[in-house]
Amino acid sequence: MRPVKKIYDNLLETIGNTPMVKLNKIAEDIPATVLAKVEYFNPGHSVKDRMALQMIENAERDGLIKPGGTIIECTSGNTGMGLALAAIVKGYKLICTLSDKQSKEKMDILRAMGAEIHVCPTNVAAEHPDSYYSVAERLNKEIPNSFYPFQYDNPGNAQAHYESTGPEIWEQTDGKITHFVVGVGTGGTISGVGKYLKEKNPNIKIWGADTYGSVFKKYHETGEFDENEIYSYITEGIGEDILPKNVDFSVIDHFEKITDKDGALVTRELAKKEGMLLGYSAGSAYQMIRQMKHTLTKDDVVVVLFHDHGSRYVGKVFNDDWMRDRGFLNTENSTALDLVKG
Ligand code: PMP
Repeated sequence: MRPVKKIYDNLLETIGNTPMVKLNKIAEDIPATVLAKVEYFNPGHSVKDRMALQMIENAERDGLIKPGGTIIECTSGNTGMGLALAAIVKGYKLICTLSDKQSKEKMDILRAMGAEIHVCPTNVAAEHPDSYYSVAERLNKEIPNSFYPFQYDNPGNAQAHYESTGPEIWEQTDGKITHFVVGVGTGGTISGVGKYLKEKNPNIKIWGADTYGSVFKKYHETGEFDENEIYSYITEGIGEDILPKNVDFSVIDHFEKITDKDGALVTRELAKKEGMLLGYSAGSAYQMIRQMKHTLTKDDVVVVLFHDHGSRYVGKVFNDDWMRDRGFLNTENSTALDLVKG
């Protein structure tokens, strides 16, 4: 954990030590105490600042990146933002490859932070030469003195959460946490926090929110990588069509699939009921608690981690036309509360 200081030497020192906030109105129907680890308080407005800095510090230690070098990464935007902070403070160039479903706000923010952006098609297989993985790999080969962290397999990703996010959650709850709930993408957050918490108390349940169109839940339950599980979806930041090395399935107790619609509606509900303007995956993580509430009791202390800030989604989840175009508003088959008139 980084020390709390009166004056920080640079912005990177302010990463971590984010607040834990009780959820009140929205959680009235949940039998347990529900606490949110609100990661948008990080300087890049997401949890990914933690692992971005860790990957760069590890690379510096191992001599993988030299002064004036270029960082190249495939990112859904938040890792890019964390890398941008590290690159600016430490003096590196940054190139990000993004899939074209990522919000325009995320791309504009990365450009504002001086990053070069390559937008790649979403609907191609990971091994296709145009996928955001392949383009990053190619640029890494072409550009001298470049470093490709590859957040999916880089051990610094889960390490950051094992060394900072996990200990913070344990201390903030005085060890009373019984459940940890979070959306899963690269797996760094759930695996690092999950490993730390299980070492402290193996009875703590670690729950991962997955999307329809992602391979995690089926793989966790059957050991089968089923390509039929892969199709495009709208939720940003969670679910994968690959098995990243950072997903440590052994510390995860349960995956729950969350629909695009429920994730989006619950994200809006969190803003209206708790005043938290959060990213799309926050709604998915909270919806998991709703879908699992029959297993909770009044003595349980559930910590849900909210990955990022809603400013990156104002043109999407928080835009009524965008929601209506996808049939997410005022239709009957939602399990989430539709607050469009709220
Ligand atoms: N939510 C958002 C908004 C994200 O950007 C990410 C990172 N892809 C996640 C959830 C998932 O976190 P992790 O990669 O640590 O599993």
